[in-house]
Amino acid sequence: MTTTKHVLISGGGIAGPALAYWLHRHGFAATVVEKAPAPRDGGHAVDFRGEVHLSLLRSMGLLEGIERLRTGMGPMTYVDARGKRLVDSPADLFSGDVEILRGDLAGLLHERTKPFTEYVFGDSITSLTEDATGVHVTFERGAPRRFDLVVGADGIHSGVRRLAFGDEARFIKHLGLHYAIFTVPNYLGLDHAGRIYTTPGKLVSYYTARRNTEARAVFYFAAGELPHARRDTAAQRAVLREHFAGVGWESDELLRRMDQAPELFFDQIAQVKLDSWARGRVVLLGDAACCASPLSGMGTGLAMIGAYVLAGELAEAGGDHRTAFARYEAELREYAEGCQKSADGVSGFLVPKSRRMAWLLRQQQRLLPYLPGKKLIAKSVRKTAEAITLKPYAGKPVAPAGPRLVD
Ligand SMILES: Cc1cc2nc3c(=O)[nH]c(=O)nc-3n(C[C@H](O)[C@H](O)[C@H](O)COP(=O)(O)OP(=O)(O)OC[C@H]3O[C@@H](n4cnc5c(N)ncnc54)[C@H](O)[C@@H]3O)c2cc1C
Repeated sequence: MTTTKHVLISGGGIAGPALAYWLHRHGFAATVVEKAPAPRDGGHAVDFRGEVHLSLLRSMGLLEGIERLRTGMGPMTYVDARGKRLVDSPADLFSGDVEILRGDLAGLLHERTKPFTEYVFGDSITSLTEDATGVHVTFERGAPRRFDLVVGADGIHSGVRRLAFGDEARFIKHLGLHYAIFTVPNYLGLDHAGRIYTTPGKLVSYYTARRNTEARAVFYFAAGELPHARRDTAAQRAVLREHFAGVGWESDELLRRMDQAPELFFDQIAQVKLDSWARGRVVLLGDAACCASPLSGMGTGLAMIGAYVLAGELAEAGGDHRTAFARYEAELREYAEGCQKSADGVSGFLVPKSRRMAWLLRQQQRLLPYLPGKKLIAKSVRKTAEAITLKPYAGKPVAPAGPRLVD
């Protein structure tokens, strides 16, 4: 084990803090630079499923906190343009063993790691210059510094990836949809439940969060790439109005409430594919390396497993980044590709292209609880999540034995 390596992590979302945790356990120092002024709240609920995910959360001491904050969601009900119930999508069909809001998970990870991690909020990397002994890093705000290694855990539009690997257009595969999420008061007064309304090429959803004290509004829509709306919140709001004004159900009310929302999360639905995740002393992690997209339901588990493997391989290689990065990729790549594959075909199921397809899907939803296929879907998703064996790095087992956690 080494105690001398200092690792700079760009991105304080999920993968970055998870890596800081494991680096600390192996005796490395970590600095996390995050462009937002504080840990970012917002986002959908994220699922963990299967023993690999659960043992990892248990080893990180996160399982209790996640249990406390779990969403406890009931059914999502499909409604028509006037809000009339069409069919319930059962709660246990797609959610994992434990489900938590992404923002709550980000908060837990930050709390868990801040006693031993240097967090720099409101800044980001502007240049990386590598030499034989380290990387000279300049920042938008802070003074230049030197680090032994740099990790890009800064999400699907990674700045580190752009600096070290090139323009993102080479690595991002757009899957034909965009999505937006924001917080609203639970003005529909639902109790651990949600609603989904679809019209061709569009989906509007609303579900309660944080014990019914608030709700999430979610819009999905079919569209090609929208570069003008990438970083411009006003343009994002305009795009959402253009697609959802007057489409029915609560769309107009949700658009009205969007302007008061504390954070609007808006992005394309895409995957990230690179031939290699490392360039010299720079390596990518989480969505920056291998985003599987929200359609896969695997992105958060994949990011956290990647963090465990990357830190473990660095420890095992005594801090030799060349060996460690090659082994990290060898351990994780097949698993990451499996997670990406689980998004195949999901977009047409989530956002039907035509009224006929929407009707067919509703019939399928209606029958699903009574078909043996119900168990097969859940089983196949769990199989993907469990398709990796985590090595006990530096002689430490992944997790102490613990009870299986299933609803
Ligand atoms: C606010 C938010 C909401 C999300 N909502 C959903 C959702 O509803 N459903 C879903 O499937 N996935 C969502 N995601 C993505 C999801 O968190 C990831 O797919 C997954 O958890 C992997 O995490 P990650 O840490 O690799 O990436 P992310 O969670 O995206 O974290 C990346 C972090 O890097 C920061 N960052 C970006 N660029 C820079 C830069 N240049 N310098 C410094 N920091 C930078 C971002 O602010 C963010 O905090 C969301 C991400 C964010 C940031």
